Amino acid sequence: MFKISKSDYVLGVKCPNAIWFKKLRKDLQPEFNTALLEQGNAVGALARSKYPDGVHITELPWERSAVLNTQRAIDNNAPYIYEATMATSTGEYCAVDILKNNKDGTWDIIEVKSTTKPHDYHYIDISFQKYVFSKCGLQIRDCWILTLNPEYVRHGELDVQELFIAHDASAEMQSMETVASEVERIRNILNGPELGIAISKAKCNKFYECSYKNHCWRNVPPYSVFDTFKGALADEIYAEYGPDLANVPADQYARQMHSGDIEAFLSNQEIRDPDILRQFTDQLRWPLYYLDYESIQPAVPMFDNSRPYQQICFQFSLHVQRTPGGVLEHYEYLHNTPGTDPRPGLIQKLIETIGDAGSVIVYNQGFEQGRNTEMARDFPEYATQLNAINERMLDLLMPFRYRGLYRPCQNGSASIKQTLPAFVPEMSYENMGIHNGTEASEQFMAFMQGKQTPEQTATMMQNLHDYCGQDTLAMVKLLEVVQGALNK
Ligand code: SF4
Repeated sequence: MFKISKSDYVLGVKCPNAIWFKKLRKDLQPEFNTALLEQGNAVGALARSKYPDGVHITELPWERSAVLNTQRAIDNNAPYIYEATMATSTGEYCAVDILKNNKDGTWDIIEVKSTTKPHDYHYIDISFQKYVFSKCGLQIRDCWILTLNPEYVRHGELDVQELFIAHDASAEMQSMETVASEVERIRNILNGPELGIAISKAKCNKFYECSYKNHCWRNVPPYSVFDTFKGALADEIYAEYGPDLANVPADQYARQMHSGDIEAFLSNQEIRDPDILRQFTDQLRWPLYYLDYESIQPAVPMFDNSRPYQQICFQFSLHVQRTPGGVLEHYEYLHNTPGTDPRPGLIQKLIETIGDAGSVIVYNQGFEQGRNTEMARDFPEYATQLNAINERMLDLLMPFRYRGLYRPCQNGSASIKQTLPAFVPEMSYENMGIHNGTEASEQFMAFMQGKQTPEQTATMMQNLHDYCGQDTLAMVKLLEVVQGALNK
């Protein structure tokens, strides 16, 4: 008999192939994201302090002693039971983050999530929990999903009452009959023969991007119908013609927003539109400042004047060209004191070095502009200067996004990670110690939490210096490409 946990259940609802792989193809098990797990554990521990004096079941949910100790805590009328665990005689089991005693013979389930709002699969998860606990004889009254409160602003010590917000889950949950029939369906899948793999853009990205995509999508080319057709249409086109764009009739993709990308891909031709390029270059004002930020995004606010998941900038790179063809200067700020707020030092250095005239060139303006707006809100003493920087901002993404320049190897994307190798192939992120913003953020977070050795920190600082500097130098080179294309 297969045991069914709550994560098994959610996976089985998502896709029959996924639950089969999890239970029967151990060779395909995806890598575990330990940083995400640690973050979830930290949020869970904080949530428990909102409901104090509970009994904590510390055994793992599949251990018999977890069930026995939960029953003992129930018999003793504990006000709260953390990680309360039950298992049905038919093999379904789960631990509930917080089981609340209503002291009238009924109990509430409180499921803690380290998001800022409930997601679809959280309701499926908590429906299974209610099913297991009800089947084991406990009377469940209400079910709650406890998330971080996106409006909470830290001032001094964390206020756990304000940090979390409880959402009544009842209206969105599956009925107990639905859970029972889904459990039966999952058991039939596991007891039957292996199914053929049926990929679908909608299904494989339902709830979250499936971690078995490497396996199931291995025959999908890097640029396929899934990249070029939106939503349900992508699945229809795939069912009719397969993943390869070369097999799709032209009249099918002619109405797509980026049909030009597909034509460029099929004919291996570059796109160039001088009007779009000129619209951008006409706005340039010298001197030119090329700016890029790196940030961390702590789930639980680490600093005063910050909210859950707020982006906290810890580094900037700034390349400066004072005159056309002039020498390139480089400035940066990289915070180097763990546990302290990087923003005041970063803002001061930025204001000192970015002058008060000339274009501030960024790639994907929403990010840098958004961070400046937030820093102006959180540090109003610098609001005038930060808002003035935003007024000077120009987005180098635009000439690429609107296909002033496009090469087939960009695979439909205008991100700098695609445009740089397409137009400046001698500059690559491949051999760098840090390859993308996510890695930069994860490593700097480990440093901020005091989890690195001095050697690791020294290596990381050098890698961050190289990585962020590469982003701004890449903009210098891409602007040269844009200007060069106008002169052809
Ligand atoms: S990648 Fe898609 S088909 Fe494969 S297991 Fe995941 S959801 Fe199912």
